[in-house]
Amino acid sequence: MKAAVLYGKNQVEIRDVIPPTLPQEGEVIADVEFVGVCKTDQQLTAAGLDCERILGHEVVCKIPNESGYFALNNEISCGKCSYCQEGLTSHCQNLQELGVNQDGGYAEKMRVPKQSLHHFDFSNPALGVLIEPLSCAVRGVGRIIAAANLLSVSRPTTLVIGGGLSGALIAYLLTHSPEFDGEIKLYDITKMPIPWAEKLGIERVAEAEADRGHLVIECSGTPSGLATALGVVRKAGIVCIYGVPKQDIVLPISPYELFMREIAVVTSFAGATDETMGKAISYIKGDETFFAQLLGRGISLEQLPEELTCWNPQAGTRTFVNITT
Ligand SMILES: [Zn+2]
Ligand SMILES: [Zn+2]
Repeated sequence: MKAAVLYGKNQVEIRDVIPPTLPQEGEVIADVEFVGVCKTDQQLTAAGLDCERILGHEVVCKIPNESGYFALNNEISCGKCSYCQEGLTSHCQNLQELGVNQDGGYAEKMRVPKQSLHHFDFSNPALGVLIEPLSCAVRGVGRIIAAANLLSVSRPTTLVIGGGLSGALIAYLLTHSPEFDGEIKLYDITKMPIPWAEKLGIERVAEAEADRGHLVIECSGTPSGLATALGVVRKAGIVCIYGVPKQDIVLPISPYELFMREIAVVTSFAGATDETMGKAISYIKGDETFFAQLLGRGISLEQLPEELTCWNPQAGTRTFVNITT
């Protein structure tokens, strides 16, 4: 079968590889249909891995003898360790991540545990690539809303930094959460139009003004976005680091300043569970028109190496690989 293999720093090629065989108990060999191209894939590609690997974790597939499409929860947790017992499966001490430390979906077929597959029924099945990232955002927004109890106001002025897919998903969930009643604004360093913000009625500001936001959510994953978030948040406010920070940067604020300005910092790492996958599926099913605008270009597997090495997605959308073309 055809697969995109990462074999070194910034080195990805399409190869003919032996298809997976002999599923263990509870596993199936799935036919991969669509895979979202995530910034994590681009970062893993840039950094390289110790061994050859097929990436791809935002997977939509079909399984033999079953109808419809399935979204993959790529995090395989043990269910036994102390983190799993607390429901913190993303922090499982024996975590396997398909498409990260195990082979993933940039291939025609992949072997997956059947219970990691979630059935969905959308008019456009490619929208299924948004289920995994939305599932992570469901966890993020849960943590943001819980932290918002620390604020002195019930209607926090909220600034989302970064108009990419993460910003879109977080902003969508906040505007659709009955527990959240703040006013959201968007700041993005680029000049590119960001259609999703208009659809949600969110004003885009040209500058991130200091002392305006009670709650600032960093979704760009850039050092400048993080510095802006910590620089502009109000005293006694909250900064949520949602965009994955680069590994080698440090927090651009001293503990003394954090203390004196009484800033709370919240983070949210992954978090796809049966529950969040289910919620993500129902959000998309209930509002396919909104989510359709977040779906970017569909590319073939042959185009993927270039996509991963020259990262340049359309603003606020998810590019996806259509494996069957
Ligand atoms: Zn991802
Ligand atoms: Zn575990």
